[in-house]
Amino acid sequence: MIYLGSHVAMSGKEMFLGSVKEALSYGSNTFMVYTGAPQNSKRRPLDELRIPEAKELMKESGIDRFIVHAPYLINLGNSVNEETFKLGKEMLAVELDRAHEMGSDIMVLHPGSAVGAEPQAGIAKIIEGLDEVIKTTENGLIALETMAGKGSELGRSFDELKDIFDGVKDNSRLRICIDTCHLNDAGYDVVNNFDGILNELDSKIGIGRIACVHINDSLNPLGAHKDRHANIGKGTIGLEALRYVVHHEKLEGLPMCLETPHIKDPLNPKEGYAPYKEEIAMLR
Ligand code: FE
Ligand code: FE
Ligand code: ZN
Repeated sequence: MIYLGSHVAMSGKEMFLGSVKEALSYGSNTFMVYTGAPQNSKRRPLDELRIPEAKELMKESGIDRFIVHAPYLINLGNSVNEETFKLGKEMLAVELDRAHEMGSDIMVLHPGSAVGAEPQAGIAKIIEGLDEVIKTTENGLIALETMAGKGSELGRSFDELKDIFDGVKDNSRLRICIDTCHLNDAGYDVVNNFDGILNELDSKIGIGRIACVHINDSLNPLGAHKDRHANIGKGTIGLEALRYVVHHEKLEGLPMCLETPHIKDPLNPKEGYAPYKEEIAMLR
């Protein structure tokens, strides 16, 4: 079975209930959500999110899995500013709990950024941070996202991710989230060699560690280290290759979510138009 959806918002009066409704409006059977604004740490209390109603609606509509994305603010790779590192650990622990209460045990996390330090210093810090969060929390898998490698972003290669997996004392709750745009931008040839990518990931980390997939086209060529998502079929990866990923038998059952940009809409110039319903239909 294919589980395909998109990231959805959580806002207004309906909060998490609204997120589920938005997912259903696109014909999704899974989705990705943030437990609050991804850019800050302000979080509404769980009892204001309308979680019981959201869970009821999911049950009625057959949505039995979804993923949560950790806020961008978290940077466990920061070896320069101890305060940022500490804040990141605290936020991640809170997010794991919130996601669990909402009904998801998959937390997607950007591994971190070395912010000017040597990559190895950043990796060591990520390992230290994950060790502590894993020790002090009970719930949830942490799915490290494969990154594009823009700036000093870490997790841009399977070798870097493997270093993290190998360094963490108890990695039983560590997973991987593959992002097709990021893979392409990091230099992995999704178009011509997706099986080769999976084989490499399997030999270095284990294919069973993949917990979820982000399906995005890319505005940039292979290896550009940029991270600009394109609409499905409108980028350098293309519809055919992305369909191949979505339908790949080794990824069956994993939640897959689009993070493609909204399309310009003269009727709604501020927000534009969400492309997910059409893109999900194209990929199915
Ligand atoms: Fe991400
Ligand atoms: Fe992503
Ligand atoms: Zn991205």
